[in-house]
Amino acid sequence: MSNLDEYRPPETYITEWPDSATYDAAIIGAGPNGLITAAYLARAGLKVCVLERRYEIGGGLATEEILFPGHYSNPHAIYHMMVDYMPPLKDLGLDKHGLMFIQPNAQTAGVFSDGTSLLLCRMLEDTKDSIAKFSEKDSATFGRVMRTWRRIVEELVAPATYLPPVAPIDLIEAMERTETGQALLDVTEQSPVEVITDLFEHPKVQMLLLYATCMWGLDPEETGLGFMIPLLVDRTMNKAMCYGGSHRLAAALAREVVQNGGSVLDTAEVTKVRLADGHVVGIEMEDGRTIDAGVVLSSLDPHSTFLDLVGEEHLDTNLAQSVRNWEWEKWSFCTTHAVLGSKPHYAVDDPWVDEAFMTVVGFDDPDSLLSYWSGVRSGHLGDRVGGHATCETLYDPTLSKVPGHEVAFLQIHAPFDLDGGGWDARSAEVEGLILEQWRRAVPDLDVVMTHTETPLDIVRRLPNMRRGSIKHGDYNPLQMGTFRPNEECSSSRTPIEGLYVCGASTYPGGLIIGGPGYIAANAVADDMGLDKWWSTPDYIARYQAAYMEEPASA
Ligand SMILES: Cc1cc2nc3c(=O)[nH]c(=O)nc-3n(C[C@H](O)[C@H](O)[C@H](O)COP(=O)(O)OP(=O)(O)OC[C@H]3O[C@@H](n4cnc5c(N)ncnc54)[C@H](O)[C@@H]3O)c2cc1C
Repeated sequence: MSNLDEYRPPETYITEWPDSATYDAAIIGAGPNGLITAAYLARAGLKVCVLERRYEIGGGLATEEILFPGHYSNPHAIYHMMVDYMPPLKDLGLDKHGLMFIQPNAQTAGVFSDGTSLLLCRMLEDTKDSIAKFSEKDSATFGRVMRTWRRIVEELVAPATYLPPVAPIDLIEAMERTETGQALLDVTEQSPVEVITDLFEHPKVQMLLLYATCMWGLDPEETGLGFMIPLLVDRTMNKAMCYGGSHRLAAALAREVVQNGGSVLDTAEVTKVRLADGHVVGIEMEDGRTIDAGVVLSSLDPHSTFLDLVGEEHLDTNLAQSVRNWEWEKWSFCTTHAVLGSKPHYAVDDPWVDEAFMTVVGFDDPDSLLSYWSGVRSGHLGDRVGGHATCETLYDPTLSKVPGHEVAFLQIHAPFDLDGGGWDARSAEVEGLILEQWRRAVPDLDVVMTHTETPLDIVRRLPNMRRGSIKHGDYNPLQMGTFRPNEECSSSRTPIEGLYVCGASTYPGGLIIGGPGYIAANAVADDMGLDKWWSTPDYIARYQAAYMEEPASA
């Protein structure tokens, strides 16, 4: 039958959803940040509507049967690094929706070609023991450095993640007040390579710490973002996995929205932010339906929000220019997901490596890692790849419904523009390279079936992750702090009245940290004079008292 028209449903087929509706706030994108913002505002009494382009909510919080029915993979986020701090988890009481996180002790392993291995654990002493296999000096240094870096995370970086950004000059002045602040300033102007290789002497220790520091997109050789190093090293030993799959977090947040009178709409692509006299009045969807709302929050990247949905004609020159100058990320991810016939067993000296949440394979020293990343940045993969592997069913057997089957993946850093013909032409070949590398580390890897997701697939699923940008935009000194996404919008308010930004391209940035969504909810609540039903967590209040308030004059 060639004429499909007669099978099309009538225009009004979604009878429960009218052509137009009125809400207090419309939130574009049901990823973690959009849902967090919506959940706070719904409980504060706003009538909110979350609009999601895909058939399913979650954005980066996806858990899907991409391999075969009964095998659940997390195609995007799996490592939840801020569960110890994220205010929404406690404020919203998400455990009542069955949300649980697992934080294994064996966190990040490195396995090397000579059969040795290194294991970073939640327990500092376990990590020190593992490092001592290579260098007693590095082990002692790690213990000493982590005592300071944990304080930096707890006192400074974690609380700052959930407060609006502060101008660099004010931040420096505040940091200079305390010893911990000064310690943070000391690393800030150094590159990851400088910090790690100055502190540690053994190449394997250097490699694994460098991997942990830069795997999320920090340039190993760039200065200016060194303040993130303590956080990234500390968090590589404190990652958590969402029991039942990352999507459970999205589902719990969506339930909060709905239980508080809000709506969450899937298959609802927003194509326009509607304005009248320079003020937001609502949104329009791809099928022509509209929502009237005096407040619109976008969790999309700057191009989508400002150029596609608002339109350049409504932007002042500075804003338009800064959006045009936005830089996508230096690399993306290519992931081979696999069903395995047994749990992976790494051929190394330490049996605990098999228990690691994440295992780095393919690099023995910083030089091999840096040269791989440099190739990736020029579009090249070479004939040996390396990356990090996780067996998802190791800690969450519910992800496989087929007895004896394990669900796992190996993920590599990969260019968006792959040389030699691009991703569609080369994905099978790259999958071969990934499996080859995995087998070097796990000689009896029992692969039952595979599915490889390339950077191009990331964009096909989530077009707002342009050029495979998993954080909606690069981490570099001109795109962080008050510059994320630009000086006018980093506190989530924008020059367009009623329009807010709340996604990964807004301060503090990407990954499942919840910062942009939480800060945006606070901004809207303040601007609308809503009763904030939530209170400031103690660790944030301590930071505000120590660093944000004017010191008492003598
Ligand atoms: C392969 C991969 C692995 C990752 N691994 C991790 C990890 O282990 N740990 C971690 O912390 N982070 C990880 N990330 C990053 C993390 O997923 C993102 O940084 C995070 O999801 C950003 O959240 P967000 O809510 O800002 O945006 P998103 O999660 O991108 O959500 C935005 C939502 O908006 C929707 N949307 C797009 N356009 C429209 C439109 N026009 N109208 C309506 N809706 C629209 C999208 O479909 C999406 O659901 C990974 C990402 C990828 C791609």
